[in-house]
Amino acid sequence: MLMFLVNRAAYMYRFVLLLCGLLVSVGVLAGQELPDYPIQKLSRHVYVIHGPVGLPNPKNQGFMNNPVVVITAAGVVVIDPGSSLYSGRMVLRQLRSISSKPVTHVFNSHIHGDHWLGNQAIRDAYPKVKIYAHPRMIEEAKAGGGDSWVKIMERVTRGATAGTRPVYPTHALKDGQLIKVGGISFRVYLGKHQHTMTDAMIEVVEDSVMVTGDNALYTRIGSMDDGSFRGNIAALDLAIKLNSKVYIPGHGPSGDASVIKPYKTYLETVYNMASRLSEDGLADYEMKGKIAAKLKAYWDWAGFEIEFGRHISLAVLEYEQAGF
Ligand SMILES: [Zn+2]
Repeated sequence: MLMFLVNRAAYMYRFVLLLCGLLVSVGVLAGQELPDYPIQKLSRHVYVIHGPVGLPNPKNQGFMNNPVVVITAAGVVVIDPGSSLYSGRMVLRQLRSISSKPVTHVFNSHIHGDHWLGNQAIRDAYPKVKIYAHPRMIEEAKAGGGDSWVKIMERVTRGATAGTRPVYPTHALKDGQLIKVGGISFRVYLGKHQHTMTDAMIEVVEDSVMVTGDNALYTRIGSMDDGSFRGNIAALDLAIKLNSKVYIPGHGPSGDASVIKPYKTYLETVYNMASRLSEDGLADYEMKGKIAAKLKAYWDWAGFEIEFGRHISLAVLEYEQAGF
């Protein structure tokens, strides 16, 4: 009898697990609200919520980017409200602790879903909000990128982001465009091919704050699967040349230019060494140790072990293609 009950309990347990998996995959199971992360004032009008540094997982519930909040006289501007409906709601809770003004504008820095799937919460609360992004970002997101990012986030967080759906940007940005909201100017810098082919960097002019998106990362190594080393390095040169007082990277702590220079050095080291060693006739796996030895300062950056080997192959490929 006892054996029968134990077997039955094990059977039921397996059944419940299977059912949960099924419900998550069809989007029926609700995700989880995020805990509150502190909102920090960086300048007169600009605030940031620094996400925990790391890759998206069940523990951080997919939240690991740096949502930015700008309080203007006419309303609130949000840049990159995060990876899910729940990160967007958390951003709204935090910004309501500092302002009761409505969110009127949102900027999305690029196609990667950990930066923009939070649009959903903002649109739910403020149906008239204008959402801006690189024209190619809007194209890619609507052509399946949005749906595929929803699935990725749900899988890597084991359902914590369930209930999230893509809410696409409504307005395409132009390079050099100046958007004024309540006396604050947002200058737009678009790239053709940088961290991705969809990157927008946003400068909050009056406060001398530069929001780089994933063109700059600090204490975290990013994916370059859709990126260009040379383009990303050029974007960082441009950002550094602006001599902003504060830089907000896509992931990791904000600060002066010293928070964005190390990532540039990383990208330059990988690209320049991989190019030179491939000219010397070395294969990717033969250069790995030599390049890693020059990058000791980055070994403990989140994502290094996952991305570094891939970065060498991508750098070699880009160098060879640049030769044609
Ligand atoms: Zn990214």
